[in-house]
Amino acid sequence: MRLVILGGPGAGKSTQAQQLCTSLKIPVIDTGETLRRAIAASKSETSVLSDLGRQVEPYVMAGELVPDPIMIQLIRDRLLQTDVTTGWLLDGYPRTAFQAEELDFLLEDLGQQLSWAIFLEVSNPVLLNRSLARSRVDDQPDIIQRRIELFHERTVPILEYYEHRDRLLRVPGDQLPENVTQAVLPKLH
Ligand code: AMP
Repeated sequence: MRLVILGGPGAGKSTQAQQLCTSLKIPVIDTGETLRRAIAASKSETSVLSDLGRQVEPYVMAGELVPDPIMIQLIRDRLLQTDVTTGWLLDGYPRTAFQAEELDFLLEDLGQQLSWAIFLEVSNPVLLNRSLARSRVDDQPDIIQRRIELFHERTVPILEYYEHRDRLLRVPGDQLPENVTQAVLPKLH
């Protein structure tokens, strides 16, 4: 099973990613978490990870999107690793139409196919309140607003891309996490 999970900041992507990956026994690849780890590493060590951290920090801390070439390379390297040959769930990727197309090209190269893109539908006020309730470094009020704005501008167009390919599952995300998971699981085939 190869899945993508889409939704605004605070839509519940990471919570659902964890639940679904446990049920389906597939690894989760969380780009936001990878970038935050790289930024943390850049404060204390010298490694490939800390180089990445230095490169992406200005974007992540401002709530802006990291440039596509950096993200595409990151995902290419990750999907070539041996622990993800039989399946995965991408949390936070793709974020732009260009990334979605590049993901398809990459999968074609690897002889793989995306099973589903799951979209967690949540209203803007709920996205804002849920993000404010977290305490991540990039969850400051003005940064959250920018991330919500970018979600509508850059990520929502991807829905059409997957809908057109009959790969999109829309799920109301404004309900208890366990109900969201139960709504998704039977649809994955
Ligand atoms: P997330 O934890 O998924 O909300 O991501 C946190 C931050 O990481 C975002 O606000 C972006 O700055 C960056 N980021 C994560 N994934 C991507 C991506 N696919 N493309 C561009 N930037 C990303």
